[in-house]
Amino acid sequence: MRMKEKVLIAGSGIAGLGAALALGGGARDVTILDRDPAPPEGSSEEAFYNWERKGATQLRHSHAFIGRLTTLIRERYPDLMAELLREGTRLFGFEDGLPPPLAHSYVRVQGDEDLKLLFSRRTTLELVMRRYAAKLPGVSFISDAGVRGLIARRDNGRINVEGLKVERNGALEEMRADVVVDASGRNTSFPDWLRDEGVEVHEESSPCGILYYTRHYKLRNGQNEPPRDGAAGGADLGYIKFGVFIADNRHFSVTLATPEIETEMRLAVIKPENFDAICMALPGAARWMNPERAEPVSQVFAMGNLQNVWRHYLKAGEPQALNFFAIGDAAIRTNPLYGRGCSSGVVEAHLLRGSLDASTDPIERAKVYDRELTASIRPYFDSMVSLDLNAIRRAEHERNPNYQAGYRARLAKSFAEDGLMPAQRGDVEVSRALSRVFHMLDEPTAFMKRPAIMARILRVWATSASEKKSRGLYPPKAGPDRAQMLALLNIAA
Ligand SMILES: Cc1cc2nc3c(=O)[nH]c(=O)nc-3n(C[C@H](O)[C@H](O)[C@H](O)COP(=O)(O)OP(=O)(O)OC[C@H]3O[C@@H](n4cnc5c(N)ncnc54)[C@H](O)[C@@H]3O)c2cc1C
Repeated sequence: MRMKEKVLIAGSGIAGLGAALALGGGARDVTILDRDPAPPEGSSEEAFYNWERKGATQLRHSHAFIGRLTTLIRERYPDLMAELLREGTRLFGFEDGLPPPLAHSYVRVQGDEDLKLLFSRRTTLELVMRRYAAKLPGVSFISDAGVRGLIARRDNGRINVEGLKVERNGALEEMRADVVVDASGRNTSFPDWLRDEGVEVHEESSPCGILYYTRHYKLRNGQNEPPRDGAAGGADLGYIKFGVFIADNRHFSVTLATPEIETEMRLAVIKPENFDAICMALPGAARWMNPERAEPVSQVFAMGNLQNVWRHYLKAGEPQALNFFAIGDAAIRTNPLYGRGCSSGVVEAHLLRGSLDASTDPIERAKVYDRELTASIRPYFDSMVSLDLNAIRRAEHERNPNYQAGYRARLAKSFAEDGLMPAQRGDVEVSRALSRVFHMLDEPTAFMKRPAIMARILRVWATSASEKKSRGLYPPKAGPDRAQMLALLNIAA
């Protein structure tokens, strides 16, 4: 009888949990190691307030979970979805997010069931995923176990990865495996360990250009969420972006993202009183965190050094480290604003499962994984890099009172603000097409390749501004301009 393949996964964040789901279930022997302690035994409240997670510093930032992930969970792990809903998380569908005039005339079409956000604190999602994965046959978790290095053997100009050096209870032990998975997140040490073994790891990197600030709130007893007919719960004002993230069990959070060059604003936002003052000046946030409705339940969390990163483990199409695979942020990192990191991590874990199932040959497995990763994730990565570079330029222009946009920049702005966005507000077909991109179900340029959708957008673009205004196709002003906001915060422009 063939022995079960032994898999060691470094990291039990979202990607590691995705790998436990994908590779567990019986066919393989899967061990997931994490440097952090196990989750508390109790409820999601306890996990949110008390689970120590130094290894995943973004854990207490706002997280949204998009359709690519919710569809995967619903289709493959319906019991997990049921457990998530029992724990107080909620699904928010395409029709729930339509502006009132579109909502009245909405007719469901096939595929709309995939356009669902999961409203949950990140701690709640992790807690429930982990409890579910721990019950799968062949899956075991080891907490308080820091991976400190690789066990590798040189062979024909390549290395064979054969296990991990792991620190537990103050002692270093060697754990052997047939397959090693790096799911240790954004600060992974694996590229350095592989380089020490002579492997070339090429890293593409491009700035996200923002800093992220999050504060959590809870609805007060007797208070409800505001109705969904007012100012949008998120917008980009150029000098600042904001988003309200609804979560489970009456919790929600607000995230403010400032461009890196907004030095004064960056320093101000971290103070809770400034954070709340900014939010109260943004109608889409104020209606949520108005002190009569909700109370803050956390400090302001800040996070910088946000980069889009793609790590290449193949050189000229050939794998250099066999039986080694990177998933999640350890492989690919993107701007949190797009909310795609967790979905990508779990999708990558399932691509890995497909690659391992496809062949027993480690070279073939590495090639299949690389090919599938590129086909599934690369278009989104490229689009996010390009959008981020545009946003960085826009933030620079925002600070320059003498800036005059050129013809192409004006055209692009007009297409976005007078065509695309009003069409999205006024036309359910356009809204659906863009929603499929947002949820990572269609590639970023898919809607541009559909003549019927482009015709609808162009028709709205060609309509006069006054008609668009009278039809409510322009969103209400999202908040004060930069100078007004700086004045409000007592900062000289
Ligand atoms: C501010 C912010 C907001 C975000 N918002 C969203 C969002 O709204 N939606 C979304 O989908 N994505 C979001 N993301 C991205 C998302 O958080 C990541 O893509 C996702 O967490 C990646 O999962 P991961 O498992 O690869 O890494 P992580 O979740 O970071 O997990 C890595 C795990 O590895 C462990 N580990 C690290 N080193 C070792 C070691 N040496 N030994 C053992 N264990 C180790 C850590 O303890 C941790 O548990 C956000 C990211 C940031 C920074």
